[in-house]
Amino acid sequence: MKYALIIPDGAADEQQESLGGRTPLQAARTPHMDAVARTGVVGRADHVPESMPSGSDVGMMNLFGYDPLRYHTGRAPIEAAAQGIELGPRDWAIRCNFVNIADGVMRSFTAAQIPSDLARELIQSLQKDQCGSPTWKFHPGVSYRNLLLYRSRGEAAPFSRDTLTTPPHDITDQAVAGFLPRGPGADELRALMDRSVTLLAGNERNQRRTGPGELPATQIWLWGLGKTPAMDSFEQRFGKTGAVITAVDLVRGLGRLLGWKIVEVPGATGYLDTDYAAKGRYAIQTLRDVDLVVVHVEASDEASHEGHAHQKVEVLERIDADIIGPIHRFLEAQGDYRLLVCPDHATFLRTKTHSHGPVPFAMCGTGLTADGAQTYDEIAAARSSILLPGYELMPLFLGGQ
Ligand SMILES: [Zn+2]
Repeated sequence: MKYALIIPDGAADEQQESLGGRTPLQAARTPHMDAVARTGVVGRADHVPESMPSGSDVGMMNLFGYDPLRYHTGRAPIEAAAQGIELGPRDWAIRCNFVNIADGVMRSFTAAQIPSDLARELIQSLQKDQCGSPTWKFHPGVSYRNLLLYRSRGEAAPFSRDTLTTPPHDITDQAVAGFLPRGPGADELRALMDRSVTLLAGNERNQRRTGPGELPATQIWLWGLGKTPAMDSFEQRFGKTGAVITAVDLVRGLGRLLGWKIVEVPGATGYLDTDYAAKGRYAIQTLRDVDLVVVHVEASDEASHEGHAHQKVEVLERIDADIIGPIHRFLEAQGDYRLLVCPDHATFLRTKTHSHGPVPFAMCGTGLTADGAQTYDEIAAARSSILLPGYELMPLFLGGQ
């Protein structure tokens, strides 16, 4: 049996005035998604517990069959996994953003998309500044997205689950004073953040970033810390091999933690201009080697963050035509199969941000009988009696009826 899961990131949404009172999934011409719904089972799954922030790290973990309330430790260890960084049992990973804070207000959580080469230079000087301490290791990533590692030399880390940090993208244009790290080990994080102020102010190239669209990095912002999540591999847990296609580090990291093959697709950008058809072709190729292929498309989330309803509709149509259609045709031709379409969370065009609440899913294939739904969208799914906690969807998809 072959399995394919297609994730249109953040696809679920509300009804839009600009789309004639329809949701983007309703407005989009999606014959292939609708065929999945018509020949299979439609319902809703809730991937983001109310007590957790809505995002792909939480939503995706749930969608892959692992309860985030039990396994999610933070975003940073998942990103560390994406970069191939191994963490020891007492090590922690911490997200390290370069940010611009002026008059105590978060002006830019990306330091105006700081170029990677400058970020790398700053990371190196931060590391040099730590030369007296072998515990802290700054690790360069891409642009503003970097990591700080706490490397234990046998001693227990000062952090715990009660160490609270705030994602800097949640506090744009707000005073940062109320959002600094709190709880166990917070003093050390704050001290590192404070120290970075002087260090970054002393970098000439950074200070010259005053042109149009530029901002200097005024300090680091530490957040999203955690240890490596104690998840069994997907094969141990579900007895199936897997592979994932994505342009997003977070999803790549989760895949690596689950023991999936990471398939790199040329032209996959994580943005609206991604090569949809290439993703479809690579998915089909990959299905020859593994039981389950996961295809993640970030573009629907990006269109929502930008508040572009018509772009979101267009992205959904491309996913339908270039990914779901070809994969479904291949699966039908090769024998027993199941196909699942489900986003990781909702992203509302109205708020331009991730939302809580259940998202629609549709699955079809061997052993699944049609339940009467005609289309794949939020409204059709809300008519279904099926409403699952996210982590129950994967066993349903892989299991018997
Ligand atoms: Zn997402």
